[in-house]
Amino acid sequence: MEEPIFKRIILKLSGEALAGDKGYGIDISIINRISNEIKNVHDLGVEVGIVVGGGNFWRGRNVESMDRATSDYMGMLGTVINALALQDALENIGVITRVQTAIEMRQIAEPYIRRRAIRHLEKGRVVIFAAGSGNPYFSTDTAAALRAAEVEAEVILLAKKGVDGVYDSDPYINSSAKKFDTLSYIDILNMGLGIMDSTATSLCMDNKIPLIVFGIDEPKNIVDVVLGKKIGTHVKED
Ligand code: UDP
Repeated sequence: MEEPIFKRIILKLSGEALAGDKGYGIDISIINRISNEIKNVHDLGVEVGIVVGGGNFWRGRNVESMDRATSDYMGMLGTVINALALQDALENIGVITRVQTAIEMRQIAEPYIRRRAIRHLEKGRVVIFAAGSGNPYFSTDTAAALRAAEVEAEVILLAKKGVDGVYDSDPYINSSAKKFDTLSYIDILNMGLGIMDSTATSLCMDNKIPLIVFGIDEPKNIVDVVLGKKIGTHVKED
């Protein structure tokens, strides 16, 4: 059997990745496909934490006429909907999960408790982290960096829809855009590459958390990344 190169990972799934071609809401066939991939990674013995985005429902900053904090809380609630859908899909195929929310909603999920999350991971449960960081003005990418640092994950896998790594310009606009195999965090900040917001990028940089950016559209990619195959763009310290 092929051996995974990581023992504990944080997988960041954007809301967009769960929306399928509709670009909005949840596509059940997509969530089922991604859940199968997560199961395959879990079956390799890897401890999996997942941070889910919410952009398929709401992005706080997009609605300028609203109070930003209120709009951001709506976005965080969107991530909880995604987390419950993912939990359901994973449990349907026999993967034991726990959802932990950064904003308490005890009737539907556990509150985020770091030591408890670590214990779940050690016991082989997939932990789905919802409601981002619990704070407005942040993103779920920042939440992924934060949770990765807190649970001492070895890597963040940033699964992107519609793109297979980090490019020097938009590959949809510029046909000669160049894909990076490796990058440093400072490169991302200096070049203004929009792969992650600067808060999330700085948090990863300061805490030396490696990041692999790859496409979610290609089935098997998550497993292949965990098995160490050279896919996507690898971001680490200089
Ligand atoms: N959000 C927030 N604080 C957080 C995480 C998320 O306020 O710690 C809000 C914010 O409005 C954001 C929305 O939730 O736009 C959805 O998250 P995000 O945009 O990161 O989702 P993704 O792009 O990954 O689908």
